[in-house]
Amino acid sequence: MGTLPLVFRLHGSTPDLVREVLLERGWEEYDEHAHEKGDWNLYWRVSTFRCSDFNCIQPWQRLNHHPKTAGLTRKDWLERNLRRMKGIFGGVLYGFSPTAFLLPNNYTNFLAEFTKQRRDSPSGLWICKPVDLSRGRGIFIFEDIKDLTYDSPVVVQRYISDPLLISGYKFDLRLYVCVKSFHPLTVYIHQEGLVRFATEKYSLASLGNLFAHLTNTSINKLGPCYGFEKEQVGWGCKWTMSKFRSFLQSQGINELLLWQRINNIVTLTLLTIASSVPYVANCIELFGFDILIDANLKPWLLEVNCSPSLAMDCAADVTVKKSLLHDLIDLMSYREVDRLRCRGYPRPQCGLSSLRGHWPSQGARLSMSSLRMSGSEGPPICCGCTAPGPCKRVHVSRGSRLNFSLQLPSIEGTELMGLPEASFENRNLSSHRSLKPPVRHVSLCFRKLPTIRPQKCRCAAASADGRLKDNWEPPCRVGDFILTFPFNEVTLKASQNKLEIKIAIQEVHKVLHWLMPPCVHNMKKQRADGTNGGAEKDSFQTLFWGPRNPPLRSECCFPR
Ligand code: ADP
Repeated sequence: MGTLPLVFRLHGSTPDLVREVLLERGWEEYDEHAHEKGDWNLYWRVSTFRCSDFNCIQPWQRLNHHPKTAGLTRKDWLERNLRRMKGIFGGVLYGFSPTAFLLPNNYTNFLAEFTKQRRDSPSGLWICKPVDLSRGRGIFIFEDIKDLTYDSPVVVQRYISDPLLISGYKFDLRLYVCVKSFHPLTVYIHQEGLVRFATEKYSLASLGNLFAHLTNTSINKLGPCYGFEKEQVGWGCKWTMSKFRSFLQSQGINELLLWQRINNIVTLTLLTIASSVPYVANCIELFGFDILIDANLKPWLLEVNCSPSLAMDCAADVTVKKSLLHDLIDLMSYREVDRLRCRGYPRPQCGLSSLRGHWPSQGARLSMSSLRMSGSEGPPICCGCTAPGPCKRVHVSRGSRLNFSLQLPSIEGTELMGLPEASFENRNLSSHRSLKPPVRHVSLCFRKLPTIRPQKCRCAAASADGRLKDNWEPPCRVGDFILTFPFNEVTLKASQNKLEIKIAIQEVHKVLHWLMPPCVHNMKKQRADGTNGGAEKDSFQTLFWGPRNPPLRSECCFPR
């Protein structure tokens, strides 16, 4: 018998690609008739989870959503959160989303702004979007307030009327952002992404032409020009981000600055809700950030999508989404012990709400000091096995410091609970049911419960000259996911215990300031001189997200 497969559980509307990728990796699909309840490693839903799903999470399981992230993914809540942060931290940092109003509630404020803008610039345009719809449904652009009609809550937003165009076509960027953990905040952005084009040439003379003004694929694939070769854009309506990078280079655009500005938008947006997301271990989430770049190369945040589309419409989708999902699964950091599921872990009673915060979280180490052995203080916790007769498993419960040796029984059929990870990692799990561990003493004082960390940090491989250490937490690169927060020692510290939002934001500001011309020029000069502008070396090294071959931040000599 081979190694036990990992098991995935899909909710009804999950895209086929998820199943395809997981099967390709040798996973098995959960079948409620064949598997026991809880006998799965990943539960994937397009919609959010119920509280009970979060409450009963087990150490070998992962969920593909964090709780309470609608503050980002609902248009109206996002607007409210960004407005609040703008009020606290100012429009210089938080001026990346177009001015917006929630109607009907803020109608008076909107009217005041509309009138003011009309005075300053008579040709101001607005876009109206229903808050509870997606994929471009119900959206229209208007100039005159008499054209504004709505019969459900809407966001009315200033229309960015001077977008950067490629051969006359409007486009936006779909970025894939993985929040590996909110506590501590740990964010990765995928190097690949999609560029989504409108399929008719942009013109302010035709505001009603959605094929020219909206970049949603769901709209443009129904357009008359979708199937034609379009100047420079080509067939269809999508490019990969790599192709866009080549385009930027061909135009001599300051790529590093543009990517960093986009990166900062992602960080600053996530910081708006980071402290209010409740901590639940083992959740990870992929968000889709939509960014529009204007003619002055300023990036704007349009919206954040929960469950970004994994549909396969064209070659660009195939190139991007499949490897994105593989990298996402790598970020979930399954370990050999996870394959054993409840057979491999000490299992606390169901109804784990009290355990939240004690089980290993993404990137967090859980010391055994929070665990308690049965027979010592406190009641033992049953492992939850269904075997008849007395439970032969080693029981571990929470509560007191462990610093002793544990004698493991050598009985046919006994399943291992609470072994150090290392003893699983090198174990051939070919037949878990007949494991016959020799009687031996295992010191549990060094035991670390599994965390959601990649087993192997691929960032080391990314560096030809070995400048990157491979024992960082969190790793700076997993596949094409690049760690974007924390990005230096200060932000690492600021996110470790209680998130210090102000400090994090100051650091974001510093990076941007440093990249602005003429600093970029100074930076290049300093690099050429071999000086670092008085910057202290950060021992926590990260890569710059964005460029094809991301440079180390230390190479860019940030002053501290
Ligand atoms: P949906 O959730 O329906 O996709 P979006 O906010 O993403 O709503 O808007 C759909 C499309 O409309 C975007 O992809 C973009 O092309 C265009 N768009 C949205 N807001 C603006 C804006 N403020 N300025 C210019 N174009 C916009």
